[in-house]
Amino acid sequence: MENKIATPSVTKKILNKYNLNLKKSLGQNFLVDQNIIEIISSSAAIKGDEFIIEIGPGIGSLTQSILNKLKTGNLLAVEKDAAMVEVLNDIFAEENKLTLINQDALKIDWPEILEKYNPEKKKVKLLANLPYYVTTPIIMGVLESEIELENMVFMVQKEVGERICAGPETKKFGSLSVAVQYYMQPEIIHQVPANVFIPQPNVDSVIVGLAPYPENIYQKEVLNQDFFFQIVKSIFQQRRKTLRNSLSRSAIINLDRDLVTQALNDEGIGIKKRGEKLSILEMISISNRIYKMRE
Ligand code: SAM
Repeated sequence: MENKIATPSVTKKILNKYNLNLKKSLGQNFLVDQNIIEIISSSAAIKGDEFIIEIGPGIGSLTQSILNKLKTGNLLAVEKDAAMVEVLNDIFAEENKLTLINQDALKIDWPEILEKYNPEKKKVKLLANLPYYVTTPIIMGVLESEIELENMVFMVQKEVGERICAGPETKKFGSLSVAVQYYMQPEIIHQVPANVFIPQPNVDSVIVGLAPYPENIYQKEVLNQDFFFQIVKSIFQQRRKTLRNSLSRSAIINLDRDLVTQALNDEGIGIKKRGEKLSILEMISISNRIYKMRE
């Protein structure tokens, strides 16, 4: 297709031509602003030879921009709605760089997908304008799969993007911030108002970029990842409580109060501090100490 899909007129034409009923349950709000599309795809710094994964291509606005930037690379787009896949197959019928799969991104085994579709081991980037209701599990699913990514750029609900990027001692710092920042470094790239979508959502959005750390000190330091995340969830589950109380009265792990007291004192952190004031490295130190003391 020659015309840019991300404009109100072309998007409406496509919706009419294929008689598409938009599904609210799948977060189908389509971007109709070519500048925003350009910001997402240029933030991923596509050189042309990568293997790009796009989640939730819809009617292909971002897909089109990515394909225009690819030369020898490939794009794998994962779309849950079979009706959209049919439309995309028609719109991009001539495109041999594109592979479409009709699947739920929540159920994808990412290492398996890469082995199958990226046997040449091209550098991998992930781009998405995500359906808001599944943003967090989709991103966490990709990060936890520990596939190697050059970067990730995605659009999310503003509130979620701010929580992902928040640091200690701020209101928005929470288990989502730690969970994402443990794997990659996030930043808010651009603010996006609700009026660039058809239909308009009730919330504003942001474009978030995730970059790998030059060396991931967090992953290197943690003794037991599962245990660390249980500690993090316990800290933030009762964020108004002191560290000793939130850890020793956690509904997630059973920790002896004396052991928690000793661990916090040994770490020089003290029992009265609130968890939300801790840096990720401090959380890792506490987790490692308690983990060793329980052995
Ligand atoms: N990328 C398009 C754009 O920017 O205009 C569409 C974005 S729309 C917010 C989200 C898209 O994700 C929809 O096409 C929807 O059908 C699809 N989707 C929703 N849940 C999904 C899931 N679990 N896995 C894959 N795709 C999903």
